[in-house]
Amino acid sequence: MRKIPFSSAMGGPGDCIFCKIVSREAPSNVVYEDDRYIAFLDIYPFSKGHTLVCPKEHGETIWDMKEHDIADLFQVASRVSKAVVSAVEADGFRFVQNNGEAANQVVAHVHVHVIPVKMEDKGRFSDRRRFTPAQMEEIARLVREEMAKT
Ligand SMILES: [Zn+2]
Repeated sequence: MRKIPFSSAMGGPGDCIFCKIVSREAPSNVVYEDDRYIAFLDIYPFSKGHTLVCPKEHGETIWDMKEHDIADLFQVASRVSKAVVSAVEADGFRFVQNNGEAANQVVAHVHVHVIPVKMEDKGRFSDRRRFTPAQMEEIARLVREEMAKT
């Protein structure tokens, strides 16, 4: 199997920001978690409610996962997408799953982007934007509330 390359500046699990989010060494707005998967708001989102879904176990790309774990990851992502779309009253959503630096994967820990889209943004790839910590917490609260209903 061909290796998917990352910049040598990227370290292993010890330096991985997503592993630190899993272990709570780094802060994040967690919206869902079970024993194997975690979902939290993207800190620099493309849209309000943009969420990342990750396996807790470190692996750089989807190729590092067992196939049945990939199926479970997308099952969780699907559940998260329903909560996110309801929470922010979106009209659709994107799954984006980048593998390797060439594909714009910035953090070398497998993740699925769940990006809600409104009809007014149809066909457009919006720029990343910032929300205040209070706004992020409020969005996370709404998503968690919707997750609890599923
Ligand atoms: Zn990691």
